[in-house]
Amino acid sequence: MNEYDSERIYDMAKKINYKRTENLSEADCYILNTCHIREKATEKVYHDIGRIKKKFRNKKKPIVIVAGCVAQAEGEILLNREKYINAVIGPQSYQKLNETIINIEKKYKKVSSTNFDVIDKFDTFNSIKNLNSKISSYLTIQEGCDKFCKFCVVPYTRGPEFSRSINELVDECKVLVNNGSREITLLGQNVNAYNFDGKRLSDLIYEISKIKELKRIRYTTSHPIDFTSDLIDAHKSIDKLMPLIHLPVQSGSNKILKNMNRKHKIEEYLQLIKKLKKIKPAIRFSSDFIIGYPGETESDFDQTIKLLKEVEYINSYSFIYSPRPGTPAAKKDIVQESISKRRLVKFQKIAEEIKKKYKKSLINKKSFVLFENKVRGEEEFFGRDEFSNSVIVKSNKNLIGKIESVKIIDGNQKTLFGIIDNKLEKDFAA
Ligand code: SAH
Ligand code: SF4
Repeated sequence: MNEYDSERIYDMAKKINYKRTENLSEADCYILNTCHIREKATEKVYHDIGRIKKKFRNKKKPIVIVAGCVAQAEGEILLNREKYINAVIGPQSYQKLNETIINIEKKYKKVSSTNFDVIDKFDTFNSIKNLNSKISSYLTIQEGCDKFCKFCVVPYTRGPEFSRSINELVDECKVLVNNGSREITLLGQNVNAYNFDGKRLSDLIYEISKIKELKRIRYTTSHPIDFTSDLIDAHKSIDKLMPLIHLPVQSGSNKILKNMNRKHKIEEYLQLIKKLKKIKPAIRFSSDFIIGYPGETESDFDQTIKLLKEVEYINSYSFIYSPRPGTPAAKKDIVQESISKRRLVKFQKIAEEIKKKYKKSLINKKSFVLFENKVRGEEEFFGRDEFSNSVIVKSNKNLIGKIESVKIIDGNQKTLFGIIDNKLEKDFAA
C-alpha cells in the first residue's frame, strides 16, 4: 500500500513542479514513506535522515518530510527529536502534502498533519489522474481496520475501515488499463471487508473484469472471517481472478488465535480452504505467521508447524512477534528471544522445503506468464505466472504486456526459467 501511496504522493508533488530524481544528492525534497508494522521502522527513519544529513553537509538543506504510519504513530516525537525533519504527514492526510511543501518553502513553522481525513484524501487523489500504469499495478480500494488484533498497529495508524466507491475505482482501473496495465492488484488492509453501499469485493471484481484489456485481477490482504461465499464463488465464475490467495493465519493454535483476537478457529480456517479448493482445485495459498506471540508454548508452535505442512503454503511470511507501542499485546510477557529465534528458524526451514518441493513440481509443466519487463542487457523477459511465481524466458520478440504459454524447464527457489510453448496470447476476452 505504501508503494501505491508513494506513486500518488508523487502525482501530487508534480502539480507544484517537483520531479522525481534518481540522484539523491541533488534532491530538494525528501519524502520518507514509512511502515510501522514491526519494530526498527522508527530507527530506520533516523538512520535515513542521518544519511541525508551527511550528503548535504556542505550544501543547502533539503526539505525533509516523514510520511506513512511512523509519522502517524510517532509524529511529534520525531519532530522533537530530529530537528532536520520539516514535517510529518500521516497516511490519511496526504491531501495536505503540497500545502505543506509550499509552507516549508515559505519558511513557516514545522507541520504535523496526522488527522484521519480519508474521504478528503481520496477526493484529492481522484482529482489527479493515476498515470502510474505498470503492466502490473496496485490499486488501493479499502483502508484502515476495525478488527483490533491485539498485536497490530494498523487500526491506530491507518484509522477505521473505509471503502472507496465502486465508480471511482472502476474509473481509476480504466485509466490504468488504458495506459498499459494488464494486471491489477486490489489493495486493502482488510481487502475482503470492502463494502461500499452494500457492494462487496466480489461485486467490484466482477465490474472491473469487464474491462477487456485487463487480463488479471488479484487482491490482498484478506482476513479469513470476511471471506464470504460470494467471494468464493467469484473464484469459480471470474477467469481473470488469479488462483493464489493470500490468507494470513498468524498461528496454528486456537488458544493463540483467541489471545490475538483473530475471531476464528483453525477448524473454520481449514474449512474455508477446503471450500475454495473444491470450487477451484488449482487454488494455492500463501500466509503470514507470527512466531513467539506472548503465551506461545512448544505445543502451540507445533500446531503452527502442523498447519504449515497441511496447507502446503507456496509462500509463507514469518516474523517474530514485535511488541508495538499502544497495542494490548505489548503489555504481555514476551516469549524469550532465544526460544522465538529457534522456532522461527525451524519454521522457515520447513516453509522453504515446502516451497522447494512446489517449485520442483512445476518443472516440465506449462504455465501462463504475463511479462512485465525486459531483463537489462539480455534478450530475456521477466514475468509472473498465475501464482505470482517469477519466470524468465529468452525471446528476441518483445513480450512485455503479453500473456504467453510457457514450458518451465528449470528453476530455483526464487526464479523459474522457461521457453515459449506456443506463440498464441491466451485470450481472456470477457
Ligand atoms: N490485515 C492483515 C495483515 C496486515 S499486517 C491480516 O489481518 O491478516 C501484515 C502482517 O504483519 C500480519 O499478517 C502479521 O503477520 C504481521 N504483523 C503485524 N503486526 C505484527 C507484530 N506486532 N509483530 C510481528 N508481526 C506482525
Ligand atoms: Fe491488523 Fe489485519 Fe488484525 Fe486489522 S485484521 S488489526 S490489519 S492484523
